[in-house]
Amino acid sequence: SDSHFPIPISPHHVDYFLHYPQFFPSSDQTDGSKKIQFADIGCGFGGLLISLATLFPETLMIGMELRDKVTEYVKERILALRTANPGQYQNVSVVRTNSMKYIPNYFEKGQLSKMFFLFPDPHFKEKNHRRRVISRFLLDEYAYVLQVGGIIYTITDVEELGEWMKTCLQDHPMFEALTSEELEVDPVVKLLSSATEEGQKVARNGGQTFQAVYRRIAPSL
Ligand code: SAM
Repeated sequence: SDSHFPIPISPHHVDYFLHYPQFFPSSDQTDGSKKIQFADIGCGFGGLLISLATLFPETLMIGMELRDKVTEYVKERILALRTANPGQYQNVSVVRTNSMKYIPNYFEKGQLSKMFFLFPDPHFKEKNHRRRVISRFLLDEYAYVLQVGGIIYTITDVEELGEWMKTCLQDHPMFEALTSEELEVDPVVKLLSSATEEGQKVARNGGQTFQAVYRRIAPSL
């Protein structure tokens, strides 16, 4: 249950020193000038983060994962990569948490420039739809922590869930779809289906994927 992992009481209490020691060599240097900008929600084994870490070496990013053992695995994976590649992978970390409850504890208003929801659990039954990580209610929260212009990336191999995520985003007043030209030039879009462990599994099995990529827009007056 949630009582087994510590939760920062506010974004100011997130331990940047612990997560990114090379960027914050001492705990009193975490003055809030550099903040986490990418969040991979339900990061699983961390494949996307590992790819993004070298693509955006100056951007701090974090994975949020509910399963304890999986989180520990990702921690070890990052530590091993840091050791094997001095100076690299210092910008990536992971935290065990329930993202459906604690996003506002980690990120302040307008802090994030990218959020990822890759191959989230489908929760097929109607009564379990409220457990889906994309919903009308949670999109309000994501809109809050995303900066104007920030992007939500979603992908799934479950067609019905893909439709659901797209509809939630399409219906939300604070999000607009990226155009096909924008999707084409965004280097991150290519990683959605190829970088994560789940994406690779789907690709091996020749499965179809359904993506929805939306931008946080300013509220219309
Ligand atoms: N994104 C990864 C990938 O593409 O390989 C993992 C996909 S896996 C099907 C979904 C992940 O979301 C699981 O690792 C699960 O533990 C995690 N998850 C589910 N609910 C969560 C929640 N409320 N908070 C954080 N992680 C969650």
